[in-house]
Amino acid sequence: MSTKTVGEFTVTAVSDGVLYTTHDVVLGVDKDDSARLTGVPYGQQLVLDVNSFLIRRDGKLILSDAGSGHTMQPTLGKLPQNLRAIGADPSAIDIIMLTHLHGDHSLGLVDPQGRAVFPKAELFIHEVEAAFWLDRTLQPDDSERVTRNSKAQRAVTAPYRDRIRRIRDGEVLPGITAMLRPGHTPGHTNWLIESGGERLLIWGDIVHLAAVQLARPEARLIYDVDTDLAAATRAKVLDWAARERLTVAGAHIGFPGFGTVTRSGGNFAIEPA
Ligand SMILES: [Zn+2]
Repeated sequence: MSTKTVGEFTVTAVSDGVLYTTHDVVLGVDKDDSARLTGVPYGQQLVLDVNSFLIRRDGKLILSDAGSGHTMQPTLGKLPQNLRAIGADPSAIDIIMLTHLHGDHSLGLVDPQGRAVFPKAELFIHEVEAAFWLDRTLQPDDSERVTRNSKAQRAVTAPYRDRIRRIRDGEVLPGITAMLRPGHTPGHTNWLIESGGERLLIWGDIVHLAAVQLARPEARLIYDVDTDLAAATRAKVLDWAARERLTVAGAHIGFPGFGTVTRSGGNFAIEPA
């Protein structure tokens, strides 16, 4: 756990655990290049941190992303216990802002019995994200991945049906602004937190494998719904973050979960904050 103060907010990175994956999820990068950049030989597993962020202000508890729950990997689903460890019981969370609805961000909404893990939380989901995954009639030509994800997301959000707020770009809470950053998913959303002249960008999955995608922002992931748009969005956000020397909070940035984006030449880097 690590905490940053942003004016009147405190933001704490809370781990959900680690996700094991492979070099094969990265598209458009040579295997040797991927191995060299990550320092992990091709064929060996890559380990990805999965973070949520707890935002506190005036006694209100707001969570960005809900963790992976119990169905993905045994090394995941640690968010509820890690929240309790810092005195934020899941039953006390007021609002969950979802950067997007992929499993490692949303399946933790429910317990193994399908009950709400966050019994009083209101869900903020960008209206574009909700329209694509939750509200649309599934089509025969949808990919297997999209169909499977849609069904899972409908199930885990069902206990929250009466308290889902479909938000739009703009200020969603005092000091918190939603910014649609599409590609990874159609409604993938960043949250800009501003208070007392300080700023922090919670950027969700703009970058998954920092070692690869900061050096090669054009590198796509098989999980991107629209790979070209995801790459264009990543380039745009990295450029903006570097120009503004923004502190970012990433769902898959390794400990401490925060960093400052810098640029030298054509390459980006994240300096741990
Ligand atoms: Zn993710």
